[in-house]
Amino acid sequence: MADHLSTARVQRWVHGFTDAVEERGEYLTDLDRRSGDGDFGTNMTTALRRARRALAEADTRAGAGSAFQVLGETFLGHSGGTSGPLFGMWFRDFGKVGAGSGAFSLPMLAEASANGWATVTRLGSARVGDRTMVDAIAPASRALDEAAEAGSPLAEALEAAAAAAHEGAEGTSGLLGRRGRTSYVGEAALGSPDPGAVTIALFYRAAREALDA
Ligand code: ADP
Ligand code: MG
Repeated sequence: MADHLSTARVQRWVHGFTDAVEERGEYLTDLDRRSGDGDFGTNMTTALRRARRALAEADTRAGAGSAFQVLGETFLGHSGGTSGPLFGMWFRDFGKVGAGSGAFSLPMLAEASANGWATVTRLGSARVGDRTMVDAIAPASRALDEAAEAGSPLAEALEAAAAAAHEGAEGTSGLLGRRGRTSYVGEAALGSPDPGAVTIALFYRAAREALDA
């Protein structure tokens, strides 16, 4: 099993993530309907489709961060909602850490996640427990840090991050929103997870699967 995510694997990661979001577009929009305004799935799939077209034309062999740079620029330039720019900055942080390297190692993935978490917090001020994507980012980032410190194999680390993000996302079902539109919905959102957090869980699951592919 590879201990790095090579440039080719990063491309599979991005495409796998796009496929996963596209497959669940309706579900994600439905979640946003319950906790916001119902545009999330459409916004995400539209931006990811645009990114897929940009990726087909970009030279993503330039480095392990290239595909994320394309994703980041696409989301920052062409996506709507509150989450569009936040995801744009999130992808951009992965792009920056991977820039100029042939592959992502575990410490690089831990660094990109920690940077992305810090960026999302700086822009949106959400803390753990506010019912946002941060509730999936934080546990995944911590899992990667712990795995990097322990010197775990990459597959194990990504499995732990994907599981932690999933658990964090599911846990938002029981949280009252304190940021964004979901804060106006109150108890009506209880019982459904936050769509941004669910999407972050798909992101880490796709990373784990790209390692096998
Ligand atoms: P809206 O329609 O409210 O403008 P989107 O539907 O594009 O926003 O995105 C909603 C998602 O954005 C939520 O599921 C949540 O994860 C995320 N989100 C909203 N506000 C914040 C914030 N302040 N910090 C982090 N994430 C946020
Ligand atoms: Mg919305």
